[in-house]
Amino acid sequence: MLVVLANAALIGGLIDICREVIAANADHLSELDRAIGDGDHGTNMRRGLEAVYAERSRLAYLPLPKALEEIGLTLVMSVGGAAGPLYGTLLIETGRQLAGSGDVDFPRALERAIDAVARRGRASAGDKTLLDVLYPVHAEVVRRAGLAGVAEQAERAASLTFGMKAMRGRASFLGDRSIGHIDPGAKSCALLTAAICRFLEEQSPA
Ligand SMILES: [Mg+2]
Repeated sequence: MLVVLANAALIGGLIDICREVIAANADHLSELDRAIGDGDHGTNMRRGLEAVYAERSRLAYLPLPKALEEIGLTLVMSVGGAAGPLYGTLLIETGRQLAGSGDVDFPRALERAIDAVARRGRASAGDKTLLDVLYPVHAEVVRRAGLAGVAEQAERAASLTFGMKAMRGRASFLGDRSIGHIDPGAKSCALLTAAICRFLEEQSPA
């Protein structure tokens, strides 16, 4: 029972903080998207996290891998744009890897999920997408950098997309004019990562 409660508090808490950080930054994310896209990233992400929050009481009592998978499916259906399928793939694949047979630990599950995102978006490192946050975050996780280190790396990685030229999605139509703007997907990914790290740090016993 204690395990069930701990799991429910963890999943419910993660849903709450992700919803909060996106709500608090939705205008900023849409502003970033207006510069190199169609200006809807904040609105789309907020709609997705609200859809997840609406399912909170059910999701929180699922085993973590199943919850991740279902949150991913909800994001695919509710976010729209490029971000829905990419974030959806990330969570669905992480959940499936963790649920699968064998000794797949979290870093390995995350690695396979990020590869699935890259295939889904036909994108690579340096293309100015959320992958430019996910790859460095994964490297920090593998390096066992600690939660604060992972959060810092996520923020730093999102800032570095400022100097990149977009190679995928709508922003790529701008060519060189996409340089000099932070990628909105990378920014939302960094905000979510940092919020999750802060939350997990608060949960861990001192
Ligand atoms: Mg957009």
